[in-house]
Amino acid sequence: MDLLEKFDENGNKVSPELPKTVINYLIDIDGTICEDIPNEQPERMLTAREFEGVREKINKFYDDGHVVTFFTSRTEAHRTNTEIWLREHRFKYHGIWFGKPRGGNYIIIDDKLISAETKIKVD
Ligand SMILES: [Mg+2]
Repeated sequence: MDLLEKFDENGNKVSPELPKTVINYLIDIDGTICEDIPNEQPERMLTAREFEGVREKINKFYDDGHVVTFFTSRTEAHRTNTEIWLREHRFKYHGIWFGKPRGGNYIIIDDKLISAETKIKVD
């Protein structure tokens, strides 16, 4: 994905940004795209029940040119099972970010704009 160069008011280079039309989707896995599997039961990650309509929605984000990154409390130890499941269920994505803090109650503080939803809206 091409990032746009940005400069501050003094002409100093700052962190690049995506074009305004491109969205960085950070999407949880357990309880969001499939049934919630705890890290303590990794064998269930291979057979997790996929939530209806979610794959089509996420694959459309991808096909429309947005960035799809799964953001999960699963750890690197769960990468193989997670990638197998995502491939078998035909999810399109750019990356997986493991190690999200567990337990919910998130407040994200960032200088970039953020909007948050607890579910993927399925038509
Ligand atoms: Mg979850």
